[in-house]
Amino acid sequence: MEKPFNFNETPGKLPKEVVPTEYAIRIVPNLDNFTFAGSESVKLNVRSPVHQLVLNGLELKIEAASVDGKELPLSAIKTDNENELLTLTLSSELAVGDHALALRFTGKINQQGQGLFYMRYQEQGSGARKVMLGTQFEATDARRFFPCWDEPAFRSRFQLTVVVPENWLAVSNMPIESERVVRRVPFAPPSQKITGGKEVRFASTPPMSSYLNVFVAGELDFIESRVGPTQIRVIATKGKAELGRYALEASAEILKYYNDYFGVPYPLPKLDQIAIPGGFGGAMENWGGITYYESRLLFDPKSSSGETKQNIYEVLAHEMAHMWFGDLVTMAWWDNLWLNEGFASWMGSKCTAHFNPQWEVWLARDLPRDPTRRSGIAKEAAMEGDARSTTHPIQQRVATEAEANSAFDDITYKKGQSFLRMLESFLGEDVFRDGIRRYIAAHKYSNTTTADLWNALSDASNKSVGEIAAGWTEQPGFPVVTVKREADGKVRLTQERFTVNFKNAPPLLWQIPLTYSVVGETPATLLMTDKMAALENIPADRALKLNLNGAGNYRVEYDDRSWELLLKALPKLGVEDRVNLMSDAWALVQAGRAPVSLYFRLVEMLPASTDLAEREQIINVLDFVNGLLVGSTERERFQRYALSLLRPTFATLGWEPKPNEPPNAGRLRASLISALGRLNDPEVLAGCRERFEKYLAHRASLSPDLRAPVLAVVGRYADEKTWNKLHELGLKTTSIEDKQNYYDALACATDPKLVKKTLAIALTEELPTSRAIFLVSRVARDSGHPDIAWEFANVNMKALLAKVDAAGANRYAPSLFTFFSDGSRANELKNYAEKNLAPASAHEVAKVVDEIQFRAEFRDRLVSQLPALIHSGGK
Ligand SMILES: [Zn+2]
Repeated sequence: MEKPFNFNETPGKLPKEVVPTEYAIRIVPNLDNFTFAGSESVKLNVRSPVHQLVLNGLELKIEAASVDGKELPLSAIKTDNENELLTLTLSSELAVGDHALALRFTGKINQQGQGLFYMRYQEQGSGARKVMLGTQFEATDARRFFPCWDEPAFRSRFQLTVVVPENWLAVSNMPIESERVVRRVPFAPPSQKITGGKEVRFASTPPMSSYLNVFVAGELDFIESRVGPTQIRVIATKGKAELGRYALEASAEILKYYNDYFGVPYPLPKLDQIAIPGGFGGAMENWGGITYYESRLLFDPKSSSGETKQNIYEVLAHEMAHMWFGDLVTMAWWDNLWLNEGFASWMGSKCTAHFNPQWEVWLARDLPRDPTRRSGIAKEAAMEGDARSTTHPIQQRVATEAEANSAFDDITYKKGQSFLRMLESFLGEDVFRDGIRRYIAAHKYSNTTTADLWNALSDASNKSVGEIAAGWTEQPGFPVVTVKREADGKVRLTQERFTVNFKNAPPLLWQIPLTYSVVGETPATLLMTDKMAALENIPADRALKLNLNGAGNYRVEYDDRSWELLLKALPKLGVEDRVNLMSDAWALVQAGRAPVSLYFRLVEMLPASTDLAEREQIINVLDFVNGLLVGSTERERFQRYALSLLRPTFATLGWEPKPNEPPNAGRLRASLISALGRLNDPEVLAGCRERFEKYLAHRASLSPDLRAPVLAVVGRYADEKTWNKLHELGLKTTSIEDKQNYYDALACATDPKLVKKTLAIALTEELPTSRAIFLVSRVARDSGHPDIAWEFANVNMKALLAKVDAAGANRYAPSLFTFFSDGSRANELKNYAEKNLAPASAHEVAKVVDEIQFRAEFRDRLVSQLPALIHSGGK
């Protein structure tokens, strides 16, 4: 088993004899030629004598170096771009103790989110074209900004100074300490009138990992508030700060909650939430200066949907949890990335659910912004991938920068979150929180491994948490528990590994914190440590439900008798248990352990309801099948069957919001309109067209919740004239959310001629780079023409890859094959990868090859089983 954190034994490339304790960095950007000039002095602690200093640097040119004031000859400076290392050879041995390193260097300003990058955007109101700067360093790109010991265990203080135009706002992790006017204007972008420059000096950070540094600057505005001693700001490009009002209020609420939960108050004097209009699509937990892609932070009450609001809250809660889990206490190495991400995902969901119970957070559909990643309930998305041969343990070996960047996947985030939820419900909420408080108190301003977390939770709970957890974090996959009623009245439970499209998987065993109840009775728990277990005193004529509320990360397979009893008891089950039964049933079908009818019989027997999570589970499955059947003769009949399942709910809800309707009705209405549109429902198509016409004349006529679905349906069946109209609207708007809706609608067009027109937009500067590349993925997914999308990407790959950030580089080309269900495409991808892709892409290629093979096999199975199902069950 893994050991607690020990600096000397932490993996990494850098030797551990020398550790930096304090950096002072000065950066002068030049936007005329997208370069910057930098200098830094670094206080070093030499722990044992060395002849060399080895640190990280990438695409930096070192112009001068000195140690303790003595200049090194340029010949003593070696840069190794392949290993991203910088080696300084010293003329004499450097003795144990404190020393000072000074460096001068120049670097590049990129157009995508790697290191220091620039963004072009249209200013709100004036529409003027502007440029601004931002940084993105996780996992390993701080080394593009300044030479540094760029591994998370090398904590240090960082003090940044930058020179920017006088009318810009500069933001970093800490507050501004001083400013002074400088005569030299650093640069003069043509459209921005710059009168002079200023040098901005930020206060020094507490000891932290290098990847948590941040620098953002531009013509920015902010709104602010305060929680106790902490200043909170939402910062955005000029004219947009007020759209941060919702995020500002949510931030204050979340900060108070975390100050209490973690037992250590937020340690920095300020917390900035920074909206940036491009460069990357997500959010990044830089300590004290969190960056968000604009639409993940800004909310316009006039045009933003309820779903956007919920996404903003969840992202805020996730990123703010990192201020403790990730920033105050940091994983020692990238093999423990899940400690940051699994924890922040779980904590963020817990906090969001606490303040917003109406959102059904644990069941809510998780919509990844990257359309090639799975959507669905977060837990389900992770379990789908984790059942395949291409999965990996939550804790995995990471040796290279590329491996560190590919560690950011569903297993790390969502399986991590799902396991923690199961563990919390097993240990109890209060015991679990006490364990977390011990952990934070013991390791603040330091690093940890997973073992440190288990030790703290074991101390708090008096249970061997490490032993329970090992099976879930150190081995891949998860179990299915089969339930069998025996003649002797006992219920036999057996666990085995659950797999999909994975023959001869190595068998594994888990310690499963099981929960169960006879429906309507008191819940019970059982830690299942062996392959078999038995439950006694379960009445033979009563329904038994395992995995209560679906909180556990395992599947359950019931024998026929138990299943029939459960179907009869459906009206007595809560929505979480119903969704859990549906998810398990569908997974058993995918795995080939049950016929397709198992799932659809369950759906047909559900009592009528407008529960969002339940209906969305069905919509997800129908969408998936509808997508698989493109080109099949069965498709039309399946669509009619699917409409018969969804229409009654839409008839209940209607097009227009009603007073006093349930809080999730708006989102469900939107989901249904999209789904019915994809299923070719003529009434919905006519309704969307009619509303689009009204919307063109009068924007407020279409409620914000309905904009995305109505536009998507109109886009799907668009002719050239409609396509042009949507495009024109997309070009004109400065609202990121509206813009996204218009371009998403273009991506839905199914006419091959229009598909090509949409794809061509990816090469222009109409969209921020991080959005432009995903336009191709969206077309592959939504147009029904993944072949045209791939043809286009193949021809234009070089230009497209120039817009992809570090995390996406290994994934982009393979991801475009995700939507094929023809086995020959798997070979095409393998051949393409062999000729064109770096070895670091191998895992992504294997995942997509597996997905194509699974889809091809599953499609055949559906085509053979659906007719019987539709005839007997269809109305
Ligand atoms: Zn995160």
